[in-house]
Amino acid sequence: MEWRMAPPGMAEAAGTVVAGLLAGGHEAYFVGGCLRDELLGRPVHDIDITTSALPEEVMALFPRCVPTGLAHGTITVLQEGYSLEVTTYRTESGYADHRRPEHVVFVRNVREDLRRRDFTINAICCSLDGRRIDPFGGERDLKLRVIRCVGEAEERFEEDALRMLRCVRFASVLDFAIAKNTWRGLLRQRDKLAHIAVERVRAEVERIVEGPHPQRGLGLLLRSGLLPRGKAPFPWTGSDLAAAAARLAGLGDLESARLRWALLLHALGSSAQCADELLRAWTFPGATRTGVVAVLRVREAWDAALSAARPEASGAGEQLRRHWIAAVLGHGQSAAEGWLTLLEAAGADAASAVTTRLLRSWTAEMKVRTLAELAVSGHEVTAALEKRPGPWLGVLLHQLLLAVASGDLVNDTQLLLQAAQRMDRDE
Ligand code: ATP
Ligand code: MG
Repeated sequence: MEWRMAPPGMAEAAGTVVAGLLAGGHEAYFVGGCLRDELLGRPVHDIDITTSALPEEVMALFPRCVPTGLAHGTITVLQEGYSLEVTTYRTESGYADHRRPEHVVFVRNVREDLRRRDFTINAICCSLDGRRIDPFGGERDLKLRVIRCVGEAEERFEEDALRMLRCVRFASVLDFAIAKNTWRGLLRQRDKLAHIAVERVRAEVERIVEGPHPQRGLGLLLRSGLLPRGKAPFPWTGSDLAAAAARLAGLGDLESARLRWALLLHALGSSAQCADELLRAWTFPGATRTGVVAVLRVREAWDAALSAARPEASGAGEQLRRHWIAAVLGHGQSAAEGWLTLLEAAGADAASAVTTRLLRSWTAEMKVRTLAELAVSGHEVTAALEKRPGPWLGVLLHQLLLAVASGDLVNDTQLLLQAAQRMDRDE
């Protein structure tokens, strides 16, 4: 088999493993997502192998391997620096609670193994010499650009409810249609999503939102009614989600995952605090959560500044500028930039363009953005004031930072130490 879309080293290593299994007297094929992606001309990230060899036979052939999923027949073989998943032909039965199967039965025939797979486009395998086995018309469906269950959709979704989200995810990421019967089966089984762990649902939704066609996926999620039936809270209404989906396009491809999530939460109109709780409930990793929440905190700080401002009062603009600078310092430049990008994507009108230009110029004029850039250290301040370090120090340093960032003070060690003394006296 000639791989065009897999890294050459990986293709080579996978070929060696398949050849090794064949030489050991077993059957072995490349299978699943790697063939789908290769046939679509999309990058292949991993090459999975399906074999008639039992797990212990696989382990006997390859000294360097890890029994990653022994009970399910999966052995990870380490070959030429790559990890390849080798899984024994199997069927599954007795799905408890509409998730993982209770019994895995190893079978002798590759077609039986293909039948347990979720969608026709994921149920193709290929031999070392390039012969494809495709009993369910996966290649035809790749050409038609459609996601179709292997077998009876309603049954397949009932067995494993996560497949419904995988269906939406593949339709979204690949920009495929969903076959009529498959969609109908999904609608009939959608309540079963309540049985799936939040982490697994979140992982699929992440791939939808962070993928190349989030609007498509969100539209499908909306129409399917799946997410409100999951275990995690889902406070979005259809119109929130539709509005956010439309605006996602305005963010462009290069915008980070963080901003996509911030936009979705912004559409919800909830506080940064609520967003934080929601992301926690959805088991998002801490780094994503804090990044998203920081963007929403900038929004809150700016909204608060706007509502406190009295446009007719003299110096109102200057007040706003200071509030903005405090927000940039408080939540970080990256969160501030993020919020400006969202404001543009969400507003996209003349007024928001003027606002974002102004806020950007205020940010650009800031002489310092972090404590590290300040010309004095905490050490120098405590020494000059002859005081023991304490909570007062952080407060004072931030006052200095704000003063330098706003242009009230020059970032010069002596001047800053004098200012520190004044501030300490006024305290
Ligand atoms: P990607 O890795 O890009 O998500 P993939 O198709 O490789 O796509 P995996 O989750 O790695 O997806 O699964 C490998 C293969 O195992 C799939 O191609 C499919 O044949 C099968 N499979 C995975 N999950 C399920 C499931 N829930 N039900 C049935 N078959 C599945
Ligand atoms: Mg995969």
